Amino acid sequence: MSTWYPYRLACPACAAPGSIALLKGIHISRLPMVKADIREGRFQVYTCPECGHRTQVEAPSVYTDFPNGQFIAVEAPNPPDLPAARRRGREVFDACFTFGPDIAATLGASIRHRLVFGVAALREKVLAWDAGLDDRVVEALKLDLLAEEGFGRKDHILRLVAVLPGLHLLFARLRPPVTADRVPHPAPEGGALPPGVPRPAAGIGATVCRGAEVEGHVTVPALRYERALQRRAHLLREHLGLSDEWVVDVYVGG
Ligand SMILES: [Zn+2]
Repeated sequence: MSTWYPYRLACPACAAPGSIALLKGIHISRLPMVKADIREGRFQVYTCPECGHRTQVEAPSVYTDFPNGQFIAVEAPNPPDLPAARRRGREVFDACFTFGPDIAATLGASIRHRLVFGVAALREKVLAWDAGLDDRVVEALKLDLLAEEGFGRKDHILRLVAVLPGLHLLFARLRPPVTADRVPHPAPEGGALPPGVPRPAAGIGATVCRGAEVEGHVTVPALRYERALQRRAHLLREHLGLSDEWVVDVYVGG
């Protein structure tokens, strides 16, 4: 069951103190309004009552939408220890399904699972899967778009922000590094994370990140996605990292 815990923070713009409610675990089947917030880009966004500055708060959690077969472990962006983050995601999944009762193991076999870093990455997985898109193909399209414009993988960041009517894809182009101003905050009140929340890197509870600066948008017509989908096997051979079982994100890893 999902519950909330208060997280105190200082506005990164004016330093006014404030508080935001964070979820421990996200079970979307129970909380459709949370899914709406994620899809609309409002999830864990703190708006300072003093100056209006909007801050994305990042915290480890687990997103599940069982009716739609989705399990997404969420970690803060730029994990200091990627293998440890992968291990945590797998452990939570195993605890839920693989080593659970038979009925859970059966359910787990039909559930897609991913590990993402940050709310923007969570949002694009949810948008893609809800629209019936293949997230590996979506990532391959990003690489195509960057190469077309002569950019490297880290020159700017593309995140899916909407699937338009007709299944055209809208990407935001964000200025990297998105989390340069990340400030570690102490763990939530009580000094410890609530039970069920995957343990983040030592000493880091939630983090605040300066809202990513949007430089512009790119639209990918549905036909281009369809063509990429037909070339899926070829694209996955070309970009081996996209076949990872857990992390399907061109911005994570080497
Ligand atoms: Zn402020």
